[in-house]
Amino acid sequence: MNSTYLIEAIYLLASVLFILGLKGLSHPDSARRGMIMAAAGMAAALVGTLFKPEIVHYHWIVIGLVIGSAIGIPMAMVPMTAMPQRTALSHAFGALAASLVGIAEFTISPDMAPFRRGALGFEVMLGSLTTTGSLIAAAKLQELMRGTPIQFKGQHIVNLMLALTMVGFYIGWLTHPDTAIFFYGMIGCAFAFGIMLVIPIGAADMPVVMSLLNSYAGLSSAATGFVLSNNVLIIAGTLDGFSGFILSILMCRAMNRSMTNVLFGGFGAVTGTDTGAAAGTMREVGLDDVAVQLAYANQVVFVPGYGMATAQAQHAVRELGNLLEERGVSVKYAIHPVAGRMPGHMNVLLAEANVPYSSLYEMEQINPELPATDVAMVIGANDVVNPDARDNPNSPIAGMPIIEVDRARSVIVLKRGKGKGFSGLENPLFFKSVTGMLYGDAKSSLTSLVQAVQKV
Ligand code: NAP
Repeated sequence: MNSTYLIEAIYLLASVLFILGLKGLSHPDSARRGMIMAAAGMAAALVGTLFKPEIVHYHWIVIGLVIGSAIGIPMAMVPMTAMPQRTALSHAFGALAASLVGIAEFTISPDMAPFRRGALGFEVMLGSLTTTGSLIAAAKLQELMRGTPIQFKGQHIVNLMLALTMVGFYIGWLTHPDTAIFFYGMIGCAFAFGIMLVIPIGAADMPVVMSLLNSYAGLSSAATGFVLSNNVLIIAGTLDGFSGFILSILMCRAMNRSMTNVLFGGFGAVTGTDTGAAAGTMREVGLDDVAVQLAYANQVVFVPGYGMATAQAQHAVRELGNLLEERGVSVKYAIHPVAGRMPGHMNVLLAEANVPYSSLYEMEQINPELPATDVAMVIGANDVVNPDARDNPNSPIAGMPIIEVDRARSVIVLKRGKGKGFSGLENPLFFKSVTGMLYGDAKSSLTSLVQAVQKV
C-alpha cells in the first residue's frame, strides 16, 4: 500500500479513538476507558507519523523520545493533589512544541502561501502565550510564586496595549513577510502577554484559566496541522481547543461567574457586596454524639470538599461509609461540580479510595433526597454548601447552585476551625440550629468516628 494511504488510515483510526476517548470522559464510569482510548489514539498518531517519507533518519526522534520519557515518567508520578500544576506544565510543553515547530518552519522555508503564513503566525502566537501563561499557572499552584492576584493600576490598559502590539506585529508580518523582526517581535509580545494574562488571576481560579490555556494550546496545534498539512493534528487540536473552551464555560457556570470576571476580576482580591448574613453561635458537637446519629441513621450523605483533599481523608471517608453500610445505613456521596480545586477533584479522590461510582450522586440528583436524609456530613466543604448562594441575592456567590445540606434532618460539619472557603465568605450554614460542628482535621475526625461508631 502507498505510504500516504497507510498514514491517513492510521490518522483516521487515531481521530476516531480521540473522539471515543472524549466521549468516554463524559462519565466517571467510562472515564478510565476513555483515557485508554485517547492514549491509544495518541500512540497511533505517533506511529503513523513515523511512516512519513519526509523523515530522513530517526536519530533526533529517538533522542527526543528518551528525553521526553525521562521528563514525562516522573511527572506522571506526582500525588493527586499536585495534578493541576502537573497539567499546567504539560500544557506549557505542548504549547512550546507547537511554537518551536512554527519557528522552525519559518526559519527553514520563509516563503509560503498567505493561508499557511496566517496559520503559522497564529500557531506561534497562541503557542508562545500559552507557554508562559501555563508556566505562571504552574508556579502559582505549586506556590513558587504568590497565589493571590497580582494587580497594579492601569493593568488592563497595559495588557490591552501589549495585545494590540502583538496583533500589530502579526499583521505586519503577514503584509511584509520579508521583515523577520515583525515575526520575532510578535513572539516576544506573546511570551510577555502570557505572563501578564495570568498574574492577575488568583491560584484558586487557575483551573478555569488552565482549561482556557488548554484550549489555546489545542487551537495552536490545529494551526500547526494546517501549516504541516497534517490532518490528525487539525482534528486533535480542534477537539482539544473546543473541549477546553466548553469546560471553562461549564466551570464558570457552576461557580456562577462570568468568564470576564474570572479573567479580569482578580477573584480573591474581589470585595463582595455582602459577606454573608452569618450571625449567632456555632454549636459544637462531640464525637460520641455524632457516632450515635450516624449509627442509627437510615440514610447518610457525605458531602466532600476541598478540605477532604487537603486532609487526604478520602480513605477514612470510605472506611466510615463501609462501616455504616455494614450496619444497614444507606450511604451516598454528593458531588458538587466545583468542589475542591479542579474539575472532577472529588470523583478522582473517591475513586482512588475505591468508592463505587454507583454511590456518587451529582448535585441535581441528591438535592431532592436531602429532606429525607438523617445526617448530611460536610467534609471540608464550605462554599458548595453555603445557603447564602440560594437565599441572599446580595451575596457575591448568589445564584451559584449548592448542595442543600441545610434541608437534611441533621448536618454535621467537619472542619478545623473558623477558616473560610475559597470565596472568603461567611457561611450561615454553620450557625443554623440543624448544624453541629465537629472541629479537627477531617482525616483524624473521621478515623476517630470509625472507632466511635464501632463502639455504638
Ligand atoms: P472551600 O469553600 O474552599 O472550603 C474548604 C473548607 O475546608 C474550608 O472552609 C476549610 O475550613 C476546610 N478545610 C481545609 N483543610 C481542612 C482539613 N485538613 N480538615 C478539615 N477541613 C479542612 O471548598 P469547597 O466547598 O470544596 O468549594 C470549592 C471552591 O473552590 C468553590 O468556591 C469553587 O467555586 C472554587 N473553585 C473550584 C474549582 C474546581 O474546579 N473544583 C475551580 C476553581 C475554583 P478550616 O480552615 O476551618 O478547616
